[in-house]
Amino acid sequence: MSGFVVKFGGSNLKNAEDLFKILEVLRMYNENLIIVISAAYNVTNQLIDAVAKIDRLDVDDFLSSLYQRYRSFLGRDDDQLKERVFQIRNVLLGAKLLGEVPEQIQDRIVSHGERCSSLMLTKFLQDHGFECEEALPEQFGLVTDGRFGNASVDLETSRKNAVSFFKKGRNYVVPGFYGIHEGKVTILGRGGSDYTATCLAYCLDAKRVDLYKDVSGFMTCDPKHVSNVKPVRLLSYDEAAELSYFGAKILHHATVEPLRKKGIPLYIFNINGFKTIDEPDTIITANGSMTEDVVKSISFTDDIAVVQFKGSNVGRVPGLLGQIASTFGAENVNIKSVITAQTSINLLISRQDLERSRKIVSRLNIPEVEAIDFKTDISLIATVGNGILQRHGIAARIFTAVSKEKINVLMISAGASEVTVYFIVSTADRDKALRAIHEEFFGGEKDEEC
Ligand code: ASP
Ligand code: MG
Repeated sequence: MSGFVVKFGGSNLKNAEDLFKILEVLRMYNENLIIVISAAYNVTNQLIDAVAKIDRLDVDDFLSSLYQRYRSFLGRDDDQLKERVFQIRNVLLGAKLLGEVPEQIQDRIVSHGERCSSLMLTKFLQDHGFECEEALPEQFGLVTDGRFGNASVDLETSRKNAVSFFKKGRNYVVPGFYGIHEGKVTILGRGGSDYTATCLAYCLDAKRVDLYKDVSGFMTCDPKHVSNVKPVRLLSYDEAAELSYFGAKILHHATVEPLRKKGIPLYIFNINGFKTIDEPDTIITANGSMTEDVVKSISFTDDIAVVQFKGSNVGRVPGLLGQIASTFGAENVNIKSVITAQTSINLLISRQDLERSRKIVSRLNIPEVEAIDFKTDISLIATVGNGILQRHGIAARIFTAVSKEKINVLMISAGASEVTVYFIVSTADRDKALRAIHEEFFGGEKDEEC
């Protein structure tokens, strides 16, 4: 296959009219398509809620309303669709009896919205004369590393499987968000359908991946936090990867990785402003470009905490960082980044791993470490653009803009990635810092409040 992979997200599945928009878009392509689809809007959250309160869940009520939701998209009853929605009935009833949902079952339940979407969309498209068939990851063999909740795709195994499954000259509808490991469903992390799309593009040597959203591609900053943001037309794989890794919610963090290996371009469209399939809002390719002011976009995340190991010499003791990192790794705590100095080693972790980290460090016994501190209520701000480290004076402009607002910068990292300078501030200062940098590089309004 050398057609296109096209993906529609949950924000493109709010009501029945949205399906007609999807149909209109699909008819514009003169290519074979793999159509990747997410759960309908908010359905994944409802499934996560159902898991959380399984002991109080009225299983039949819950599934009936899920069926009604999907039926309303299709505009008619359908036995197969009903069967699909109720496919997890016994799983839910079993878990309810147990009073908890084992990890292995959780991913199966949470990914259920995607399986309902793919069958519903297949039927809708067929009803409207658009030829296609459904293909499930368990059928074509999208294989993962087996990490429940946040799995990565085994690209080589999946490629071999997919090549022998997908036939030329046909269109397929594929549910996003999950793959299979030893027969078990493993989800790819929130927003994972983007990643499904790019993995399939890799597996099938697609010409392009088109992601449809309800926002206009990448922006210079998150419009919920900064006014006067501008669209970003062109990004390199590196820039897009760093922005997503550091909090830009528009793409799943691993989306560009499979594409990088084969140089496949990624287009992002806002379905609401859709013109033609060759006029996306953002294009992401291997080619880096440098703009006049270097910085292309600023992202941030509040999902960050720092574990700080202090000691007069910790930065110079051989093997210390390795020892700390492997202890965290053994407990399945992901270290997002590390900043070291002579007198401290700082691990950046996710907020949700904070409690587990406290337990881990209470068991660590390292003589050189004199104190261990935890920094919470902090945010990481990432300033991204090709050339950010090469071009003289960019970092100075970033930090002058921030310091003019009298914001205290807690930590800085530059150089770990060629395209990113990031730093940490207290969450209370986060928006002021974003606005200050945005104004410096893109103009814009002064923060009225300060
Ligand atoms: N439905 C999943 C989520 O909400 C996956 C996706 O939409 O990409 O995270
Ligand atoms: Mg998404």
